[in-house]
Amino acid sequence: MDTIIYQNVEQNSNVKLPDNLIFGRNFTEHMFVMDYDEALGGWHSPTIKKFGDLKLSPATMALHYAQAVFEGLKAYKQIDGKIALFRPRKHFERLNRSSDRMCIPQIDIDFLMDALIELINVEKDWIPTKDGYALYIRPLIFATDPILGVRPSNTFKLLIMLSPVGPYYHEGFKPVPILATDHFVRAVRKGVGECKTPGNYAASLAAQREAIKEGFTQVLWLDAIEQKYIEEVGTMNIFVQFKDEVCTPPLTGSILPGVTRMSVLQILNDWGYNTTERRIPLQEVFDAYNKGNLVEIFGTGTAAVISSLSKLKYHDNILKFSDEHAGELGTKLYKEITDIQYGRKEDRYNWITHI
Ligand SMILES: *Cc1c(COP(=O)(O)O)cnc(C)c1O
Repeated sequence: MDTIIYQNVEQNSNVKLPDNLIFGRNFTEHMFVMDYDEALGGWHSPTIKKFGDLKLSPATMALHYAQAVFEGLKAYKQIDGKIALFRPRKHFERLNRSSDRMCIPQIDIDFLMDALIELINVEKDWIPTKDGYALYIRPLIFATDPILGVRPSNTFKLLIMLSPVGPYYHEGFKPVPILATDHFVRAVRKGVGECKTPGNYAASLAAQREAIKEGFTQVLWLDAIEQKYIEEVGTMNIFVQFKDEVCTPPLTGSILPGVTRMSVLQILNDWGYNTTERRIPLQEVFDAYNKGNLVEIFGTGTAAVISSLSKLKYHDNILKFSDEHAGELGTKLYKEITDIQYGRKEDRYNWITHI
């Protein structure tokens, strides 16, 4: 692929990070842009330029039919000043898998790695240094044919934008209350649940609105067919710790295959936990709670890393953990993963790519 064009890029500009970094509100000065046109031989004109508005036709296909995919990963400033990416290739492989499902052309992962590293090198002063803070990386690809017919687009735009972020929840690393819903479903097998594609998130908003109205932070999603098995929590994968087993639902098509999920499973296995990937009926979780066999529940994802539950409600069933303190295992995992990310602990799995 072509070499990257630098358009009006001024390095060493004055970076002033706001004190209060709310997730996804602030963006760095530059972004990466690349276009795809079948007629021009594919992906072309990779460019680093000023972050700013795009000029688009009102008929831009992605705006109407959501032919688009995205990713979310982070760059960390480590304690010795090095810049680290956490398992970036896994994110780009998933981007390509999401793209394939959405009829979006593949991108060469080595090229994407080079592009990301060049962009972060330009923007390295924007990486916050406080513990729990990072530079959130948002690659996005969307269909740009200015045509209202429903068919795969022939042109696409790829953007990589960067957003300095603090801890994901206002509450910080504190447990959050979750409402299980059977009024809505997130995704169904053979649909697009396993892709990071915008429609999944649009479809989830009404359930989130309902949860917030009832005083909860997020939704626990049940399977779409029987509404019996737990699938995900908000935009995170879910883990349930019983006395003798740590479980997470298997990747059968409706669940997003999280990079954090994969990392947590590996760490837990190394620590000697009995981990299983199996279907978990919500009723089993409440039964275990009532029998004293439930230890804790937490979500996993790039944005928050680990997020413990303080409370779970489903109809008249309620289970409660501490409002103040995250569970023991969740806390241990949070520490282990962030220690690797911030370079406080040896990268024994080779998960880190230094820039
Ligand atoms: C992104 C995402 C996750 C977490 O994936 P990570 O790779 O761990 O960040 C889980 N569920 C959904 C629905 C997601 O969009």
